[in-house]
Amino acid sequence: MTIKKIMVIGAGQMGSGIAQVCAQAGYKVIFNDLKPEIVRKGIEGIDKNLSRQVKKERMTNEEKDAVISRLLPSSDLQDAKEADLVIEAAVENINVKCKIFSNLDAIVPEHAILATNTSSLPITEIAAATNRPEKVIGMHFMNPVPVMKLVEIIRGLATADEVYQTIEDLTHALSKVPVEVNDSPGFVSNRVLMPMINEAIYTLYEGVATKEAIDEVMKLGMNHPMGPLTLADFIGLDTCLYIMETLHDGFGDDKYRPCPLLRKYVKAGWLGKKSGRGFYIYDESI
Ligand code: NAD
Repeated sequence: MTIKKIMVIGAGQMGSGIAQVCAQAGYKVIFNDLKPEIVRKGIEGIDKNLSRQVKKERMTNEEKDAVISRLLPSSDLQDAKEADLVIEAAVENINVKCKIFSNLDAIVPEHAILATNTSSLPITEIAAATNRPEKVIGMHFMNPVPVMKLVEIIRGLATADEVYQTIEDLTHALSKVPVEVNDSPGFVSNRVLMPMINEAIYTLYEGVATKEAIDEVMKLGMNHPMGPLTLADFIGLDTCLYIMETLHDGFGDDKYRPCPLLRKYVKAGWLGKKSGRGFYIYDESI
């Protein structure tokens, strides 16, 4: 199947990255969020990213403008009627995602594929909210999307082979590397990563070490490019909590219980870099 127009739902950190790489690969992108100002902020972020590339002489100003011109702002889900593919990157909440997919199912053309960038939620359950489960698939990008090569591709129970193939081809067209993974809570990436981050939060909670010391141990001792608490701030503490809850519910095993400190931070609105404060404090003006 040929994909020409892609709708990206969610103009947060992941949706913005996905919209950017799709537009850079030449696709027209309907870029959707709940409010026009959120989409505007998303496009401003993409513009800022690309301007850095221009400064480094990795792209010209004209190329940057062409990428931005392929982003079509939207705050109306009805705009999905022109999409060959929708990639959903809204919040990590099963009810929100099922509602979006059920609404989309009634709007998009019959041939359209519905993909979700969920970090951990069951593709089969999201697909069941539609009348086209064979055209629903997981397309899990990594953060930051323009930099990270991996895309986990996850089939739901009913996903058709040709849908899988189309998404694998698209992943290559975006200059990413697809890895096929089965539909299981957290897939591979967050099944392995998130319990480590949660354990790092427990070590802070129990006073085993300071946040700086925990991050330093994992960077210098394990050769991780950034410490787990810094990484949690980059992912978003709300997203980390949702993923731990999905693992906990999905496996029914207490080894996945979210750390109370993680819950407390999320309740306080300390969501990490995106809210200006998480384990560390971030000042956008610096
Ligand atoms: P975010 O909080 O930065 O952005 C979420 C965006 O979704 C917000 O702008 C919000 O307004 C929008 N939104 C919420 N409900 C919506 C709706 N009904 N319609 C349209 N837009 C809606 O979150 P994020 O970090 O970009 O995560 C988005 C998704 O990507 C989640 O499913 C998350 O698990 C997944 N993901 C996140 C990471 C990460 O490192 N943050 C990595 C891979 C995948």
